[in-house]
Amino acid sequence: MAQSTVERPGTAAETAHKWVYLFREGNASMRDLLGGKGAGCAEMTRAGLPVPAGFTITTEACNAYYTSGRCFPDGMWEQALTALKDVEQQAGKPFGNTDNPLLVSVRSGAKFSMPGMMDTVLNLGLNDEAVVGFARLTGDERFAFDSYRRFIQMFSKVVLQIDVDHFEHALAKKRQVAGVQTDAELSAGALKELVAQYKTIVQREAGRQFPTNPVEQLRLAIEAVFASWNNKRAIDYRNNQGIPHSLGTAVNVQAMVFGNAGNDSGTGVAFTRDPSTGEKRLYGEYLLNAQGEDVVAGIRTPSKIDALQRDAPAVYQEFVRIADQMEQHYRDVQDLEFTIERGKLYMLQTRSAKRTAAAAVKSAVDMVHEGLITRPEAIQRIEPAAVNQLLLPQFDDGDKAIAVKSDRLLARGLNACPGAATGVAVFDADEAERRGKAGERVILVRQETSPDDVHGMLVAKGILTQRGGATSHAAVVARQLGLPCVAGCSDISVDVDQKQFVTIDGKIIRELEPISIDGSTGEVFQGAIKTLEPALSDDFRTLLGWCDEAKRLGVWANGDYPRDARRARDFGAKGIGLCRTEHMFMETERLPIVQAMILAAAEATRLDDAVSTAEQSLSGSEGNERARRQQDLAGVRSRADRSEAHQTYHQSLGKLLVFQRGDFIGIFEAMDGLPVVVRLIDPPLHEFLPSYEELLVDVTTLRLTGTDAAQLAEKERLLQAVAGMREANPMLGLRGDRLGIMFPAITRMQVRAIIEAAVDCKRRGIDVQPKIMIPLVGHFNELKLLRGQLEAVAEQVTKEQGVGVDYKFGTMIEVPRAALTAGQIAGYADFFSFGTNDLTQTTFGYSRDDAEGKFLLKYVQDEILPRNPFQVLDADGVGRLVAMAVKEGRAANARLEVGICGEHGGDPESIRFFHEAGLDYVSCSPFRVPVARLAAAQAALATVERDK
Ligand code: ADP
Ligand code: MG
Ligand code: MG
Repeated sequence: MAQSTVERPGTAAETAHKWVYLFREGNASMRDLLGGKGAGCAEMTRAGLPVPAGFTITTEACNAYYTSGRCFPDGMWEQALTALKDVEQQAGKPFGNTDNPLLVSVRSGAKFSMPGMMDTVLNLGLNDEAVVGFARLTGDERFAFDSYRRFIQMFSKVVLQIDVDHFEHALAKKRQVAGVQTDAELSAGALKELVAQYKTIVQREAGRQFPTNPVEQLRLAIEAVFASWNNKRAIDYRNNQGIPHSLGTAVNVQAMVFGNAGNDSGTGVAFTRDPSTGEKRLYGEYLLNAQGEDVVAGIRTPSKIDALQRDAPAVYQEFVRIADQMEQHYRDVQDLEFTIERGKLYMLQTRSAKRTAAAAVKSAVDMVHEGLITRPEAIQRIEPAAVNQLLLPQFDDGDKAIAVKSDRLLARGLNACPGAATGVAVFDADEAERRGKAGERVILVRQETSPDDVHGMLVAKGILTQRGGATSHAAVVARQLGLPCVAGCSDISVDVDQKQFVTIDGKIIRELEPISIDGSTGEVFQGAIKTLEPALSDDFRTLLGWCDEAKRLGVWANGDYPRDARRARDFGAKGIGLCRTEHMFMETERLPIVQAMILAAAEATRLDDAVSTAEQSLSGSEGNERARRQQDLAGVRSRADRSEAHQTYHQSLGKLLVFQRGDFIGIFEAMDGLPVVVRLIDPPLHEFLPSYEELLVDVTTLRLTGTDAAQLAEKERLLQAVAGMREANPMLGLRGDRLGIMFPAITRMQVRAIIEAAVDCKRRGIDVQPKIMIPLVGHFNELKLLRGQLEAVAEQVTKEQGVGVDYKFGTMIEVPRAALTAGQIAGYADFFSFGTNDLTQTTFGYSRDDAEGKFLLKYVQDEILPRNPFQVLDADGVGRLVAMAVKEGRAANARLEVGICGEHGGDPESIRFFHEAGLDYVSCSPFRVPVARLAAAQAALATVERDK
């Protein structure tokens, strides 16, 4: 027990340790020790504000309490009693006195505010005798017994751990019997009876009498507050918010003031600015004749703070003045608690207000304009994660509430990609594409999506799938595209053939019926809901402008289409860091051409190789020998010309050239004046073909039914081709730069398309800055070979067109060997771009899909890994490779430009790492560009601060 520690001998030195601070001894800088609430009360006391007298028992004492097996540390209790004497003196009444008792509150308060997570007891010090004296003194028996019954209720809950429902039931019953609506209307007599009932409840539920000795009450309450640091909801909250469990809570003991002393008294909460919009006006609520948390408890409807001007003008004026003073003092939006006792105002708490992202931005920008804070301070006050909220389409709150009320909430799935969307339900990708291109708003609804659906997803406003998790195709593509997506919605059953889905309740939604999905919550609604499109507010643009002044890192965007590029520009991107050409292959009218090209590739390339071998041997020969070789060459040429595969291959590439050139022109136009990094084809070619399994099923079915011989032959041919291209491990197979080496005509076509597009733009006065990027290099010889081949194409085009363009060749660093030999590779590259997704896969030896689907979650839960390395860059491992490659690459090639284009480019913590590693830019999804600008600025400011 706590008191026994006092008697432990030989602790004279420890007794000297200061565990307790009077409010007037502390200040705002002592938050670690006094907690936020204690430091706030101390600071307000210093500022001369009307704060009831009190003292704080430190967080250190709380930690000592835990380490010693739940004993108060030596000297603490005595120091508390001494401090209590001081409070008695200031308040002018003794604690435990029965004629004029001092009552106190015992309040928890950790370093970081944890609203409602820990406990507070009010009116402590009352008992059967003191309540009589208190009534006599105040001349208000009703008030005295109201205070008493509140005390018993709170103390029983917090200290004796009795379920508060027992008391609430008794209270409700009393109101009912008395025929009144509110507690404030209960008579003194009724409250007296209630106190008696409460005491029986305590006896029954706790098996003990309610403690009547005020000193014992105090000791028990302090212990209970210490204990509340480790109640379940506090632990859960800290886990969720990343607050260390080792901080401990302080305990504040403070003279009570009474908001429940009549209609000239009251209690309230107010913010110095509107916490949801940031608008500069006092925002809050109060209740007359009420105590403590009555305002938030929702039992009575509080009045808006403005009404206080009418109810108590003098108090209102004083409060406005204090609120203003506090904001100036703390230079931040404050959240204030106050109580009015018989016309006199008391301040009980001040803290930095929690606010929405919109409010955070507006108030920070306003405060800079008001001269209250500096630009760097404004930048550092915004939480990057919260900013994402500002960039998503959202449902109008009111309209959504109406939808819920009118029973239009159909189902709930996984919130796979945030944002809200409304459109007509469409069940197949072709139909979605047709309607979407015609300007209709469609939501693509599928059981699950596959690469075959991408063309439909591209034009859809949102995606809804019945199956699949957070890393399903639908979710991953949706996040790339910034499309609202609800995945794995097992509450519905999708019937693609019938073009409808059915909900659990049997509601049927047919094709072209309007639906709405909220990818932030996973909700699916029937009918349209008004949607607010994302836009950067003027304040946010102002703030981001300041970020651009403060940051060193460039922020570019990943984007495959002109519309991505335009959005990225609007959000402030200074280049396209990754334009993936293969997405363009997936579109409906192109896919058949791509497939024909792929099926012919092997045969055609063999013939191409034969031709170029014959050409080479010809060039070195003379005389008769030469004539013979000329004949050979003519032979292989004509064989190639006659080959169907060879024809198909080169014809298909010719058609794709036209498409690709058009695509690049679109992007270059959108990025006029800024660089565009175009990556050459990367995925294994079989990703563009039907799946082996699907074909196998088709062929088997056709064989069994034996009806359509022609189709069977066709499918068998395809199956054989696909079987030939299957890989045991596609992630590590024939992909990336290996494709350019095996099928040079494909990457040549792409480079031709890029340079031709650039020339076309340049002729029209557009400032084009193409950068050609070769993926997946592991050995510098790969790059050397490809660069040679591709530069030849670029030169050829320049000659044909009679116009030259400046272009650069670079490579992705996405396998460890590339990072380890960055010095060699940099000899052949104008730039590096880290593909941190593949680099993370290959460094850990994880395939992302398998890892996230099978074990990564557990790894993170069990803290085997601190975080998902695909979301936050693994600084120790992958980051080390990055830092090494930057250093050695630059040492070998001083003009090497270095960026990153993986998903990590939009993650604030990873951005900080890239800043410190000295990269030139990060490239992320267009929607993350504003967050990245903010995070890059914060990283730069943090480095400046650290180096001071
Ligand atoms: P929380 O951390 O949950 O906000 P508090 O310690 O602030 O808890 O207290 C709960 C309520 O009791 C608040 O409304 C506060 O204003 C009120 N309160 C706390 N101490 C006193 C006091 N000495 N006199 C009057 N009201 C008090
Ligand atoms: Mg509070
Ligand atoms: Mg890659």
